[in-house]
Amino acid sequence: MDSARKGATRNISGTNHYHVLLEQELADLHGKESALLFTSGYVSNWAALGTLASCIPDCVVLSDAGNHASMIEGIRHSRAERHIFKHNDVADLERLLKHIDPDRPKLIAFESVYSMDGDIGPIREICDLADKYNAMTYLDEVHAVGMYGPRGGGIAEREGLMDRITVIEGTLGKAFGVVGGYITGTAALCDFVRSFASGFIFTTALPPAVAAAAAASIRHLKVSELERRRQRDRVAKLRRKLDAIGLPYMANQSHIVPVMVGDPKKCKWISDILMERYGIYIQPINYPTVPRGTERLRITPTPLHSDEDIDRLVTALSELWSQCALSRAVA
Ligand SMILES: *Cc1c(COP(=O)(O)O)cnc(C)c1O
Repeated sequence: MDSARKGATRNISGTNHYHVLLEQELADLHGKESALLFTSGYVSNWAALGTLASCIPDCVVLSDAGNHASMIEGIRHSRAERHIFKHNDVADLERLLKHIDPDRPKLIAFESVYSMDGDIGPIREICDLADKYNAMTYLDEVHAVGMYGPRGGGIAEREGLMDRITVIEGTLGKAFGVVGGYITGTAALCDFVRSFASGFIFTTALPPAVAAAAAASIRHLKVSELERRRQRDRVAKLRRKLDAIGLPYMANQSHIVPVMVGDPKKCKWISDILMERYGIYIQPINYPTVPRGTERLRITPTPLHSDEDIDRLVTALSELWSQCALSRAVA
């Protein structure tokens, strides 16, 4: 059987032309020399952070308190010394950096868009600290790739900061609509992870058709602003409508609109009724995913939601808000 039809690990005949093309597309997307594909975003974080932190001698990891489980697990697996800094708090990060031997390798791991609150990491300030204390940076752009930046390279692209980040990680499964994950960085760094990460070495490569589909999606979003502009417009429209009826949502600079319910039972009930009675599917986000008292409906408008979709949603929410006797802001 030839490798185009038979699945295999990347290093043992599993690498196909489409994997190579996709890695080139990804390296170009983030302005890096190289990219390395994984079977998911979860695996890319777990394997890359686990490998870098364990194989770089005496490495110390500084990890944002809000980081995704895949980053936490990778760092834990590495058994490297780790310090957690308060979420998006550069003063706390600096406090930790000051106490670490300047000669030790340091890796700061954080995200751009955090998915539960929709807030955005202070990338520039973290890069400034990384320069000052001679640290490497690892940025998870999973909730931003495809959606931010003039070519969909994420928040770091939008802010002109991609070249200051050591590793940019992303997923092919969210905005790009396929499946898979990746890291981008220097050729040497990607080779290093390729050579040591068991989560890369000992698993079957993504199907070539999936790699080809992901590359097509990335190529499209590199040149099309339509979807990004339309999504921003949809998000703004939803916020305006929520404001008009006084429904509370968490303010942030992203496309994520967390509508705050503040009660786990009501949150679940509203979500169930939205589905049963209105045919609208929105997940309740309860403890332990978010702190108690901040239970919410997390809404992410897509470019394809129409004015009527948004009107219908807001009308439904307004009715359910009244039924639950939930409070409103004064409009
Ligand atoms: C979803 C997610 C991942 C994992 O990506 P998958 O491709 O779904 O495995 C990594 N980081 C963050 C922040 C995520 O939300």
